[in-house]
Amino acid sequence: MTKLQTGVKEVDLYINGEYVKSSNQATFEVKNPATQEVIAYASEATKEDVDKACQAAREAFEHGPWRTMTVAERCNKLRRMAEIMLERKKELASLDAADVGKPYEMALGMIPRAAKNISFFADFFEQQGGEAYPMDDEYLNYTRYEPVGVASLITPWNVPFMLTNWKLGPCLAAGNTAVIKPAETTPLSVALLGEIAKEAGIPDGVVNVVHGLGNVVGTALTEHPEVDLVSFTGSTATAKKIMENGAASLKKVSFELGGKAANIVFEDASLEKAIPESIRAAFMNSGQVCLAGSRILVQRSILDEFIEKFKEAAMDLKVGDPQEEGTKMGPVVSEEHYKKVTSYLDIAKEENATLICGGKRPELPEHLQTGFYLEPTVYVQEDHTTRLCQEEIFGPVVTIIPFDTEEEALHIANDTDYGLNGVVWTENLQRAHRISHNVRAGTIWVNCWFVRDLRAPFGGFKKSGIGREGGHHSIEFFTEAKNICIALK
Ligand code: NAD
Repeated sequence: MTKLQTGVKEVDLYINGEYVKSSNQATFEVKNPATQEVIAYASEATKEDVDKACQAAREAFEHGPWRTMTVAERCNKLRRMAEIMLERKKELASLDAADVGKPYEMALGMIPRAAKNISFFADFFEQQGGEAYPMDDEYLNYTRYEPVGVASLITPWNVPFMLTNWKLGPCLAAGNTAVIKPAETTPLSVALLGEIAKEAGIPDGVVNVVHGLGNVVGTALTEHPEVDLVSFTGSTATAKKIMENGAASLKKVSFELGGKAANIVFEDASLEKAIPESIRAAFMNSGQVCLAGSRILVQRSILDEFIEKFKEAAMDLKVGDPQEEGTKMGPVVSEEHYKKVTSYLDIAKEENATLICGGKRPELPEHLQTGFYLEPTVYVQEDHTTRLCQEEIFGPVVTIIPFDTEEEALHIANDTDYGLNGVVWTENLQRAHRISHNVRAGTIWVNCWFVRDLRAPFGGFKKSGIGREGGHHSIEFFTEAKNICIALK
């Protein structure tokens, strides 16, 4: 296994094909949340730097060869970009493991998916045609899908490299140019995207990366007049600000936001399958997954058996050093986030939830004593309207909510502001269909969790998002459909 290369790194902005320092030389610290060790200093972009990045992206869009080269040529460069990611996968995974605090093995598993996000959209776009509408012999009427312009891609810290490339693939395949802003807590892997693009032969100015705080750099980007569209993954609260900031220049937006998924376990479910997958859905990436099954709805007839088995499996998870083989759960991403997640331990107490396991720091070796660790934490709460059951905690804290009937399960599942995804465990096919059709969420998994096909739509109902990513849904966002009608006579 590749361990994190020791030594503090400097992470610069990437503008118009080269690494540059911030115009006022300001930097911010990037820490390893397992130890609080400073692992990098990142250049903190000023408004002026954001402007330079946007101007570079505009110039590359209007006058560079990117938009006008053949689709085959553009997509070949993207496939090369994906290959380079695979060649550098250990380095990229090591960086994601270090600044997110996620197990290295998990980070390593996500790099091929990140590379696939690029090559998939290259292949997909290359095969995309336009429509033609026969109108007798008098007119030729057809559609072209053209790039929109300069895209701002703003991403969160939980899966930095994979999520950024999920946007960058369709953005570039369609011929747009990009200014990327990774989360300030986890800029390390995304910072390399500019140089990877350059090595793949992608022209300067097409891929730019700026770092810094959301309310400074993110605001500057989403207000910038040269930015045509914003593809954002993050919290619902930030999405509202982006919508406000982009309103003056009427930016096209795509929002992939938070969730509070119901993971519904009926009495006829196979617990052999449901328990391990519900554990994964609850604690993967320390529960810092938008799709986490954080509300586990369990039919009362199997409640005791479920609690006992779920508790045993949760307590069995190896919590420890993300760089160590076999670690299943690391810390949460930062001190600020640790405070947020652990504040729910007090909220749970105030709301009279029953603690089943966890709720405290795990016992850890000396070098991890300062890390932001919390044991896998499980509550039972009868009242699904409590804050514990309604708010996105985004940490290793899940709540089991008992129910009696299918109708009640559906009511609880839908009685939330979010609607990103849902999960149902049952051996009854009719019930699986009924639940799938009636839970108001963008993805429903039946007897499985987190199985993705890149062609399928991904996104949320209600406050979980606007728009869809995946296959032609991503391409629609990153293109303008143009209708052309030519008189033939
Ligand atoms: P966040 O909204 O705080 O930050 C996300 C990004 O937005 C960061 O890069 C941040 O710097 C930037 N940002 C912050 N304020 C901004 C502003 N005013 N203008 C522009 N940009 C700004 O979210 P987070 O804490 O990094 O991520 C966790 C959230 O992301 C959770 O709610 C989670 O559910 C969600 N998420 C959703 C998906 C999905 O696909 N639906 C995937 C992963 C995470």
